[in-house]
Amino acid sequence: MFCYRCGKANEDDNRFCKYCGTMIRPPAVVVPEDLNYFPPNPDALWAYYLGIASLLCGITGIPAIVMGIRGLRYAKLHPEARGEVHAWVGIIGGALTVLCVFMLIIGVVISACL
Ligand SMILES: [Zn+2]
Repeated sequence: MFCYRCGKANEDDNRFCKYCGTMIRPPAVVVPEDLNYFPPNPDALWAYYLGIASLLCGITGIPAIVMGIRGLRYAKLHPEARGEVHAWVGIIGGALTVLCVFMLIIGVVISACL
């Protein structure tokens, strides 16, 4: 293979260019031993992502709260799974968004009535 930096030819199995030292082949990808890895508290993780997403686009606020509550319940049943922080981020983020959307609707209604 040719070095993309200096263009000189290297043996195919060289990881570094022997002329300029540039890494021309990335290190072998480390494959996790357990390919069936599953997040310990998926509900809480979902709440977290939905909560963050709701702050950006507003739509996912309610599912974020629902998943957050489920995540908290799961964390209580399975203390080793943890994820309370993720769940709380989802609940608070979701609640803030729902509140904002609610205020927005009330604002629109009031301004439409005036
Ligand atoms: Zn090179």
